[in-house]
Amino acid sequence: MLNRFDDEIYFKTVQLEDYDVRGALILGTEKAVIFDTLSRPHDMRDYEKLIGNRELSIIYSHADWDHIWGTAGVNRPIKSIIAHRLCLKRFLHDVPETLQEYQKRQPELYNTVKLIPPDVIFDSELEMDLGGITLQLSHLAGHTVDSIVCFIPEKGILLAGDSLETPFPCINEISQMANWITELEKWKKNTELKTVIPAHGMISGSEIIDNNLHYLKSLLNGDMIEISEPLTSFYKETHIENTALFLCKSS
Ligand SMILES: [Zn+2]
Repeated sequence: MLNRFDDEIYFKTVQLEDYDVRGALILGTEKAVIFDTLSRPHDMRDYEKLIGNRELSIIYSHADWDHIWGTAGVNRPIKSIIAHRLCLKRFLHDVPETLQEYQKRQPELYNTVKLIPPDVIFDSELEMDLGGITLQLSHLAGHTVDSIVCFIPEKGILLAGDSLETPFPCINEISQMANWITELEKWKKNTELKTVIPAHGMISGSEIIDNNLHYLKSLLNGDMIEISEPLTSFYKETHIENTALFLCKSS
């Protein structure tokens, strides 16, 4: 599903088993950026007509499969694919392994996927001027070591990738809990921030930062976490896995 946020920002959301993933198209006067190419080449189809004559680049929020497998579906020259240095590194290891697994299990869904690694990498921060709209990329090692977020100061929008999520973030073996919390605390204090666009879950205001911080800190403290809203089976399982993984990390 393609959603228009305003004249310069569109979101594409696709359904995967029992959760959604969202990417964005950002249109400056001169340049356009696709933030995450989602999970299959045809996920990129709707953007084509909106990009027009603009020079196109792609940003990967991190190297998890559901954010980067649609790149081969972009049928036009790509100026650059931008990501964190560790995202590129993951293309040598877990990214092809995950694709192999999915192609074996569900070839009809994933046989058209081609892995296209980033060709412009950064360590800490990178700023882009698209013409009337600025993208400020910054590293946020947390959900994964290679995660980045993208702030659009003209609009107060934070494209958060998987660094923020509703109903709660997904933790995995490579998550960096302490740094994740520290970085989210900084975003919480940012008075320019108005809207958070997570890759999974509802678009919201800065309250999502409080909710996610509460969840991460509770895990860190070993507190029981009460979740009042009804959860899909994906998030029920994720909550159990988050708790178990964290017990492993602290033992
Ligand atoms: Zn994800």
